[in-house]
Amino acid sequence: MRTGLTFYRRLSQIAFIAVFALIPVFDLFRYDTATHEFFLFGRVWTLGLKEGFAADPSAAGALSVTAQFILNAVLPWIAFLAVFPLMGWLTGRLFCGWACPEGALFELADFLTLKLTGRRNLFVRRQQEPDRGTPNRVAYGLLALLSAVVIPLAGGVALTGYLIAPKTIWHQLAAGQLSFGVKAGIIGVAIYMIVTSVLVRHVLCRFVCAAGLMQMLFGWASGRSLRLQMDVARISECTDCKACDKACFMNVTPRRHRRDISCVNCGACVDACNRELGNGRGLFHLGFGTGCALPEENCRKLAPNTIQR
Ligand code: SF4
Ligand code: SF4
Repeated sequence: MRTGLTFYRRLSQIAFIAVFALIPVFDLFRYDTATHEFFLFGRVWTLGLKEGFAADPSAAGALSVTAQFILNAVLPWIAFLAVFPLMGWLTGRLFCGWACPEGALFELADFLTLKLTGRRNLFVRRQQEPDRGTPNRVAYGLLALLSAVVIPLAGGVALTGYLIAPKTIWHQLAAGQLSFGVKAGIIGVAIYMIVTSVLVRHVLCRFVCAAGLMQMLFGWASGRSLRLQMDVARISECTDCKACDKACFMNVTPRRHRRDISCVNCGACVDACNRELGNGRGLFHLGFGTGCALPEENCRKLAPNTIQR
């Protein structure tokens, strides 16, 4: 069988986590609480106003200040705010499923909970749980313990770097002398990560995360966004194995074949059905509008005129 979508999704998640951690290191986007400077793409961002600009009472002076303000403050802010609605309009909740570091963390928590308890989540009951195999519970217990310590602390260091210069944090860590700000940042983020990944997980993605909600809203409203689709003409080939239901960590029932705002276009159900019916014979694919985008095998073997929204 060829590599499924999940393999590429894991690569994408790892790559984005690396990018997310490196952004403040290279001053691509961070605010320095010590110097009160905002860094953007390696440079200190300013309004670009010349010293003494307020002393110029002329119309030309006022016009120049207004233009600088619009160019350097209003437009970049609008562009920043438009990122998630635009992504939602074009790709639905693809970012949530393929890039979001928090989503990846919740999936890891699902995986470890499943291996240890046979259920993906102890607080949310699901009709279908994935098979957990016969795991070595001691090994998974140790892995869970290690993850619960290392990942939140690493996340704390990375995220605190958005407010305190990463070099300062590393020096303090190396010297073993942490300032109050660094301690508060790392501990605060670590506690947040532990609490959300133990208690809340994908409920936060569905109902709280602003980036997720914007993608959800615009993806749902868009007629052309990327979404999960089903080859309904071949529904009789379904063996009712329920592998698609079990694969979905967002608790969507893919066979309902309706636009579900919780779907993050992860493709886990696509892979599950391809495993059951044979590569390229699965009933699901990802597509834009009425088109078919991925996986290629499913697109090629899709019966003509069967794509429905
Ligand atoms: S329905 Fe399929 S593509 Fe959507 S979130 Fe669930 S498993 Fe992923
Ligand atoms: S994985 Fe495919 S064959 Fe199995 S229940 Fe889902 S749609 Fe049917």
